[in-house]
Amino acid sequence: MARGNASKRTGIAVLPTPAPELARHFDRLSLHRQKSTANSNSGCLTSRVDVIRKDSKVAGQLEGCLSRSKLYAFLQPPTGDLCGLRMLVADNTGLVVAAAGIRADGRLQNQLPMAKMLYPRDGILASYEDDAGNRLVGGLAYKITRAIMQPIEALSRGAKRIAAGHVEPQIPLPANNDDELGLLTRTFNSMMTKLRSNQLEIEQDRVRLGEKNQELQRANETLAQLSIPDGLTKLHNHRYFQDHLTREIKRVSRTQSSLALILLDIDDFKLLNDTHGHAAGDEVLVCLAAIMNDSARESDLIARYGGEEFVILMPNTDLAGAVHLAEKIRMAVESTRLIIGDTMKPVDITISLGVALFNGHRREFFAEADKALYQAKAAGKNCVIIPGSESVELG
Ligand code: GH3
Ligand code: MG
Ligand code: MG
Repeated sequence: MARGNASKRTGIAVLPTPAPELARHFDRLSLHRQKSTANSNSGCLTSRVDVIRKDSKVAGQLEGCLSRSKLYAFLQPPTGDLCGLRMLVADNTGLVVAAAGIRADGRLQNQLPMAKMLYPRDGILASYEDDAGNRLVGGLAYKITRAIMQPIEALSRGAKRIAAGHVEPQIPLPANNDDELGLLTRTFNSMMTKLRSNQLEIEQDRVRLGEKNQELQRANETLAQLSIPDGLTKLHNHRYFQDHLTREIKRVSRTQSSLALILLDIDDFKLLNDTHGHAAGDEVLVCLAAIMNDSARESDLIARYGGEEFVILMPNTDLAGAVHLAEKIRMAVESTRLIIGDTMKPVDITISLGVALFNGHRREFFAEADKALYQAKAAGKNCVIIPGSESVELG
C-alpha cells in the first residue's frame, strides 16, 4: 500500500484507485509524508494509519477519505426497523464527528467518555451506557443487529399478513442468504408459494363443489317429486310409475328378460261412492292397496294410475306368472268382506284386470293391457283377460 509515487511538492503519494471492496467505503486513498489533522467539519472524514517500513521507520501515513454523504447513507437507520436508534461516529479521542437518527444534531461535537467505551484489554469499542442511561453499541454490533433484525422483522411482518388472511407475502432474501435466516426466509417463501397454490385449488374445488351441490339439489327435488307417494293409498304415483317403466324397459332391452304388466280397475266404483259415500270409497281404495301389497312380490312395482285404476309392473315375469298374480289379487278382493266406517255393513267389491307382456314397444305394451282391461269389463267384470284372448279367466 505504501509503494505509490510520493509527490515532493505536497508530501502526499497518490495511490492507485482503491480495490472495489474498499472503493465502496472510501473515495480515495493517499499516502501522507507529513502528519495532518482531521477536519471534522469538512465534507469528508479522514482516517490515517502509520506505514512502517521493514527497517521499522515510519514511511508515511495511509489516509482514507470518506465523504460525509456516504457515511450518512450508511448511518441512516432503515425506515420502520430499529426504531429510536441513533448512530454516532466518534474519532479516536471520543469526539462525535457524524450523527444520524433522532435528535442527532445535538450530539455532533459531543465528547464521548472513551475510558468507558474501551475494553481495557484489547481496546475494541463494544458498548457503554451514557449519563442518561442510553445504551450505546459499537458499529459492528449495530451491523450484526441490523443484519439479524431486518430479516426477522420481514418474516414477522409476513407472518402478521398471513394471520390477517393474506397469502401473497414474499420476503426479500437477506444479504447473506446461506445462513439460518436465509434458509428460514427461503422456506417461508416456498411455504407461501405452496399455500397460495393450495388456496387456489381450494377456491376452484369450492366453486366445483357449489356447482355439484346445485346439481344435487335439483336432482333431490326431482327425486322428492318422483318419490311422493299417492297421499291416500301410499302407493307410488303415476309419474313415478312412468319413470320406473322407462328404467325397466331399458333394462329388459339389454338383458332380454321378461316384463309383465297388470292394469286393474274397481268395478262399479261410482255406484259404491254413491251408495256409501266418498269416504267409504276412499277406505275401499286403501284396502285394495293393502291386498295388492300383500299379494305382489317385493320386486313388483305397484302404483295408483289414477282414480280407482292401479298398475303392477312385474320384472322377470312371463304372461303365465302375471295372470297368476292378477288372478290371486282378483280372488283376494272378491273374498274380502269390507266393513267400512261405523255402519258395520259389509261391502262387497270386485275388480277387473288386463294383463300384457312387453314385446319391445312401450306404447303397445300399455295399450294391450288397457285393451285387455276393457275386454274384461265388456266380458262382465270381475275377471282377468290377456290380450288376444277372448277367454275369461275366472277363479
Ligand atoms: P266400471 O266398473 O266400468 O269401472 O265403473 P266405475 O263406476 O268404476 O267407473 P267410472 O269411471 O264410471 O267411475 C269411477 C269412479 O271412481 C268415479 C270417481 O268418483 C271415483 N273415484 C275416483 N277417484 C276416487 C277417490 O280417490 N276416492 C273415491 N272415493 N272415489 C274416487
Ligand atoms: Mg276407472
Ligand atoms: Mg271402475
